[in-house]
Amino acid sequence: MSNSSVDPATLYVVATPIGNLADITARACAVLAAVDGILAEDTRVSATLLRHHGIATPVSALHQHNEARRGARIIERLAAGESFALISDAGTPGISDPGAHLVREVRAAGHTIVPIPGPSALTAALSVAGIEGPVLFAGFLPARAAARQASIKTFESARLAWVVYESPHRLVALVDDLVASLEPTRAVIIARELTKRFESVVRLPIAQLPAWLAADSNHVRGEFVVVIEACAQTAADEIGTTAFPVLDVLLEELSLAQAVRLAQKITGARRNDLYAHALQRQHAAGESTGESTGDTSDTADNADADGTDR
Ligand code: SAM
Repeated sequence: MSNSSVDPATLYVVATPIGNLADITARACAVLAAVDGILAEDTRVSATLLRHHGIATPVSALHQHNEARRGARIIERLAAGESFALISDAGTPGISDPGAHLVREVRAAGHTIVPIPGPSALTAALSVAGIEGPVLFAGFLPARAAARQASIKTFESARLAWVVYESPHRLVALVDDLVASLEPTRAVIIARELTKRFESVVRLPIAQLPAWLAADSNHVRGEFVVVIEACAQTAADEIGTTAFPVLDVLLEELSLAQAVRLAQKITGARRNDLYAHALQRQHAAGESTGESTGDTSDTADNADADGTDR
């Protein structure tokens, strides 16, 4: 064991700042100072961070081009009891950064892998996006236009928000593809240069994005996380999640006509939709008990009898 901050034969996957050098945990610094070696995506980039925090641990390069080749030697050294920290240029290794291959190899070899959590552009952007509900992380979309548009199509109708990493030279193309594929009112958050001097976070409907990008050349400079909010609930979704459960409860106690009338007053849903749901439910109940539903006076046609359907 090198030191009490780290265990032997262990690979630590350490998150480092995404801009502001102070955004590193005390535990990350302790681990980086204590391991036998740091595996860095780019040794020159990491030198700035390590110097800033007075860390003198030997650093060697581990990037996407040598990750597969270096794995065997690292595993030998882990087997001999040494410990390593894996870091990337910014944020959390393995999040659109090298690391996954080494992690799989080290695990297969039976050694311990410990995450040292901290910054990521993904979590930083989501923390200020102000969205609720599930989120899908898409990472970098394909660089080629046709493949990128195809992947936008796969997320297009998702009832969840999705997050894309984008480089400055492809941001305009991404926005053009979003404008072409998604409904113009869908909201997008662009989180730019997070934790850095020119940090900005804007939320705009898709239709306004091209004008926003064109308004200031700085808007296409730097690093970006793009969060596409979930598409708005459709009327059909809404009635299914709010009005029908209310109607179901009322149907337990009241006649079909009374239940529909009350459910309409409470939820504001269309009377025809409520009738159709109530009749379907009554029919299903009749089928499961083998009985006829009997109540022929309450039909969907009656719903419009007073001309008040909405
Ligand atoms: N592993 C990193 C993480 O945990 O966020 C991501 C590395 S990926 C190669 C780099 C991309 O992350 C950039 O192209 C950008 O989309 C996003 N990114 C990194 N730093 C950022 C920052 N300070 N502000 C906004 N986005 C950033």
